[in-house]
Amino acid sequence: MPLLPFPAESRLPGVGTTIFTVMSRLAAECGALNLSQGFPDFSAEPALFDRVSHHMHAGSNQYAPMAGVPALREAIVARSEALYGTRYDPEHEVTVTAGGTQAIFTAVTALTRPGDEVIVLEPVYDSYVPAIELAGGRAIRASLAPPSWRPDWAAIRRLVSPRTRMILLNSPHNPTGSVFTRSDLDALADLVRGTGIVILSDEVYEHIVFDGARHESVSRHPELAARSFVIGSFGKTFHVTGWKVGWALAPRALMAEFRKVHQFVVFTVNTPVQLALADFMSEPRRWLELAAFYGRKRDRFRDGLGATRLVPLPCAGTYFQLASYARVSDEPDTVLAERLTREIGVASIPVSAFFADGRQDRVLRFCFAKSDETLDRACERLAHIT
Ligand code: GLN
Repeated sequence: MPLLPFPAESRLPGVGTTIFTVMSRLAAECGALNLSQGFPDFSAEPALFDRVSHHMHAGSNQYAPMAGVPALREAIVARSEALYGTRYDPEHEVTVTAGGTQAIFTAVTALTRPGDEVIVLEPVYDSYVPAIELAGGRAIRASLAPPSWRPDWAAIRRLVSPRTRMILLNSPHNPTGSVFTRSDLDALADLVRGTGIVILSDEVYEHIVFDGARHESVSRHPELAARSFVIGSFGKTFHVTGWKVGWALAPRALMAEFRKVHQFVVFTVNTPVQLALADFMSEPRRWLELAAFYGRKRDRFRDGLGATRLVPLPCAGTYFQLASYARVSDEPDTVLAERLTREIGVASIPVSAFFADGRQDRVLRFCFAKSDETLDRACERLAHIT
């Protein structure tokens, strides 16, 4: 098609296609086992599909209220209260979103003014910085260093300035699998006390925390909850990432700003799916069992990696396992990830994609939200890396 003259300057000059799309496409092209993009290769409970069908046939096919169907908002706040002890008002303090990414984008857009600074922890999930920059803000990167990838709160404190508007956090952390402890939250509370800094806490892997640890939600910490957005995801919890339904929780004044944007971005989310999810939330075992379920997969995959030359790094949460290939190759991770996809048929994510400077720690990310058979086959193939 001929190109008409248009303003050539991109709003996102450094951004291409996300690494998740790139690697999933390459995996499909090569017929590789896809352990790159984070999504399950097994089905959700069919009972969930029956509920969607029920609500569609019952005629719930028009716009839901802007903030989400009341039954689902009520179920989300009841779950949060049971788990973390904070009661959000279903009318004013929760909004159902088209996935966690939209919730994050909306919160960033609603709060960030041109010139504001938003602190992020690097390696940083790839949608955060573009959201900040599109809002006219500046991302300030604090670094999480291997092998523990723990936040250094003293270093983060040094990055705070009068322009700091928000700190954007993620625990359990994608891609490293590290999780915050109670003392992390106390250090964070200490750091923001007396400031107007807002916390945006991406907790979409909240139910996938291993070895008996508990998820430290900012909503468990009253001082932090009072200045935080907390983001959750049904995709991760009920194995339906493609449905793109999540939520945001926040005190009323913050949520009012969030909804001003939300109503013009998506307005509202798929009605029969919201109703089905509300029905499905009647049984807490559906999220309470998730940690054990994924814990078994993590252990199986790590055991399998034992027969390869890759070295698994600690994984305290999420459904991602990092593995070092320092013993195997000097190649940049993007090169190795492509080669493994093409040559041995296992796709992964190069962790440099989560760094602004493409830093090379020689680490790949593998998603273990896969059937045991897929995990075993992937490890057999990875054993061929020399
Ligand atoms: N969150 C998923 C991951 O980390 C990817 C979602 C996406 O592709 N946007 O792999």
